[in-house]
Amino acid sequence: MNHPYVHNTPPALGSPVLTAEGLVKTYGTTCALDGVSLQVRAGESVAIMGPSGSGKTTLMHVLSGILTPDAGDVILRGADGAEVVVSAGHAEARARLRREQIGFVFQEGLLLPELTAVENVAVALMLSGTARKEAEQQAAAWLARLGLAGMENRRPGELSGGQAQRVAIARAQVTSPGIVFADEPTGALDSATSEQVLHALLASTVSRGAPLVVVTHDADVAAQCSRLVRLEDGRVVSDTLQEHAGGQVSAR
Ligand code: ADP
Ligand code: MG
Repeated sequence: MNHPYVHNTPPALGSPVLTAEGLVKTYGTTCALDGVSLQVRAGESVAIMGPSGSGKTTLMHVLSGILTPDAGDVILRGADGAEVVVSAGHAEARARLRREQIGFVFQEGLLLPELTAVENVAVALMLSGTARKEAEQQAAAWLARLGLAGMENRRPGELSGGQAQRVAIARAQVTSPGIVFADEPTGALDSATSEQVLHALLASTVSRGAPLVVVTHDADVAAQCSRLVRLEDGRVVSDTLQEHAGGQVSAR
């Protein structure tokens, strides 16, 4: 049940990485997701927009296995071609799946304040058994790629908002997850910094061939993604490819 492997061919660019079907999630009498189906392919960057309360955060949490849906399925196809059901299984199995195959960037970054930048990133690898020295080397390489060379030993309180979000991005990338989610990752930043952080997020995810799903209120941020999905009242009300976006656009 935890590893219902179905296929064993690696995904090519444009092949489905995540497939969600008929997702329903209610909180008491509130229907946060009212039958959402969504397929995300390799190389895509998907912006999710919608009014406050439309179910964006709930959708990200269900797609990434943080929450389980009341109905519907989420299937993730790993780099090895194996398919795993994200939306079922015990909390521990889902937590392992998130550690190993899914990256998540939260609005506030959620860095550990007592740890340095490099330690915050290395922890993501060490949780899956990588030795500290090796984990810190890989963490430092990701920090450098995201423009943070020389800041490895700063604690989150010694970083700007934009720098802290780039540390959170490095933490989400360091395990080479098959898909990365970001829930309003630039929501707390000014627009110039938002642009840089989004660029770092897009480049670091899509250049690995992994898809990015990003919730944003910022039309400029959404415009840089290859696809725009709008939610209203827990439903997908539009889903459009943005051919003009800088990133790759996959055939659908
Ligand atoms: P968004 O991220 O688009 O603002 P959310 O997914 O956070 O939307 O919320 C969707 C709906 O579900 C809202 O009506 C919200 O009030 C409700 N909701 C979200 N989380 C909870 C919760 N833990 N308990 C009760 N209601 C919730
Ligand atoms: Mg939200």
